[in-house]
Amino acid sequence: QLLNLEQLRRTLHNRIQELRGNIRVYVRTRPFLPNDGVSASSSTGGGHSSIEILPDGESLTIQGRRGDEAHAFKFDKVFAPSAGQDVVFEEVSEFVQSALDGYHVCLFSYGQTGSGKTHTMQGSGNGAMRGIIPRAVEQILSQAALMKSQRWTFTMKASFLEIYNEELRDLLVMMNSDGSIKPRDARTANKLSIKRNAEGKSYVDGINLVDIDVENKTVGLEQLEAVIATAARARSVATTKMNSQSSRSHSVFMLHLCGSNEESGTIVHGALNLCDLAGSERLDRSGASSDAQRLKETQAINKSLSCLGDVFTSLANGSKHIPFRNSKLTYLLQDCLSGDGKALMFVNLSPTLESCSESLCSLRFAQRVNQVELGKATKNVQYSK
Ligand code: ADP
Ligand code: MG
Repeated sequence: QLLNLEQLRRTLHNRIQELRGNIRVYVRTRPFLPNDGVSASSSTGGGHSSIEILPDGESLTIQGRRGDEAHAFKFDKVFAPSAGQDVVFEEVSEFVQSALDGYHVCLFSYGQTGSGKTHTMQGSGNGAMRGIIPRAVEQILSQAALMKSQRWTFTMKASFLEIYNEELRDLLVMMNSDGSIKPRDARTANKLSIKRNAEGKSYVDGINLVDIDVENKTVGLEQLEAVIATAARARSVATTKMNSQSSRSHSVFMLHLCGSNEESGTIVHGALNLCDLAGSERLDRSGASSDAQRLKETQAINKSLSCLGDVFTSLANGSKHIPFRNSKLTYLLQDCLSGDGKALMFVNLSPTLESCSESLCSLRFAQRVNQVELGKATKNVQYSK
């Protein structure tokens, strides 16, 4: 009985989401950190935030030094710096869960380096500091177990990739599809391409899809933790090799879900994509141009983030042609960004006065996103009986 009520509540919620359009923008400002104080303390006043959040929880103003022009913005939600990981997850949990109902769902974190993107997505440690990725996988496994009583069975596959300089790399290349780790000397080609299947859905050709045990929640969770840890290790190895920060690439955690209902014969295909974007900061004019590698990286990041913006603008304008193919990121996530999907973007901000102009750029980008209505999201359901 309780379960049915819960289902009704979820259906209603999804219905409301559909009516409101299916792209959201949440702003999250991180608190001041000890290192912020060093340069902020003297002339600019340490701990003085450039961001002021208004009591409605949806609006903010941003202002540099006193006397500078203040700008006001309104989004779907604005989190205060004091909002913990649990509070933030609470606000996205229904969204995440709709992947089980057959939606293609994508969460992004956007912002300059150091603004809290990875903290939001991955987290900064265990327990209370865990971010959206570990909380989402746990919730999905729990919910799938609950739906068993209604004769739903799920299969689940996880993949984790990175887009660096417009190239896709498998972060699970050292893992076998059963979750075991390959021997150190196992050489595997690691350059992936995006293809479309017969239904027109995009997929990554040759990527490692790790099977997750949905029947046994403890085992499933362990497998997903191993996936996340393997990806983190692959990322840090690649980082030192190329002498570049992980903030120079986009990382995308993907969960592919397939549910079938024994009673009705319904089959649903959902996907959850959790995307930690590369730092959005503009090219530092002072030294970047002398370093060819860095310049190339920056151009690739600028290109893919501006393509993402262009896709949102084209969607907002109702254009016939949406330039999904102009970047790997938008091509990969096309199903979530078109009428079929649901997207939610976190704009992460640093509160410092020095970050004010970057924060303003991020907010303007987000404002462009917030005007988008993707139309009606559709579940990916087949009836086999
Ligand atoms: P980014 O991924 O955008 O470069 P990080 O997520 O690495 O930024 O955050 C930079 C630092 O700030 C990290 O040490 C992180 O733990 C900390 N941090 C970010 N957001 C918060 C927050 N909301 N609360 C506490 N610490 C945070
Ligand atoms: Mg990061």
